[in-house]
Amino acid sequence: MNQLIRCVKCDKIFLRTPFDQWPEYEPSQDPSMGSLRTLKKDDFEDFLRNHRGHRLEDLKVIEDSFVSEKDYFEPVKTSYFKATNGKESFVIRKSREKISEPMQYELIPGDLLLRCTGIQIQAEEIAKQLEREQGLPRQKIATFVKLYQRIADSMEIGNLERVAEESGNPLEVYCKMDDTSLAFLLRNCRNVFEGQQYLDIEQFIEGHKENGVLLLKAIFHLQIVEKGESRSEAASPSFPKFPRSMKGVEQ
Ligand SMILES: [Zn+2]
Repeated sequence: MNQLIRCVKCDKIFLRTPFDQWPEYEPSQDPSMGSLRTLKKDDFEDFLRNHRGHRLEDLKVIEDSFVSEKDYFEPVKTSYFKATNGKESFVIRKSREKISEPMQYELIPGDLLLRCTGIQIQAEEIAKQLEREQGLPRQKIATFVKLYQRIADSMEIGNLERVAEESGNPLEVYCKMDDTSLAFLLRNCRNVFEGQQYLDIEQFIEGHKENGVLLLKAIFHLQIVEKGESRSEAASPSFPKFPRSMKGVEQ
């Protein structure tokens, strides 16, 4: 069980994990000791020693608050999450310079803000899928893609619902279109496609509106607002909730 500890006096953070007390091994020079000797390692003890006599408090990581500008698979990166002591909440920066180094945790006075900078459709994937499934003429496919793009441009991020599908980047979030946009899309398609072609398109939309190629990708910008800085520029993150796998502090 991880424990996030803050020194109230110094505003220093320590994340205590079961790994802190695991010994490290290093090759021994002394043959009588075998090939490896064990180094006792207790980072938490070091933290306690450095903050002796200071008031320490436990922080609770705020669920789904983890965010980074880099892709999930990127091992060396800076990421942020929020934590609270019950009264006040804090932004914590987690980083390391090299993959071999331990994570550093640093408390930042301020707040994390996410602003949606655009909603993208998966144009290429839609075209490919339409061709494969419905065999519509190229020109009709292009018309549909253009139409969907136009409707996506007028969508409000707050109306969209995120789906479980995960993108490779925390700031790119898959959403499905809202019912109003769906109705609008179908109505527009009725004007553009006739007879069997409309039925094909309708079937395609029904089949892909909740997963797959008709999902929209909402792109977010991460902003750290330091205390005292004006936040008039930044919108509050009413959306998105982050995927389940990002809950809390990742290991
Ligand atoms: Zn301290």
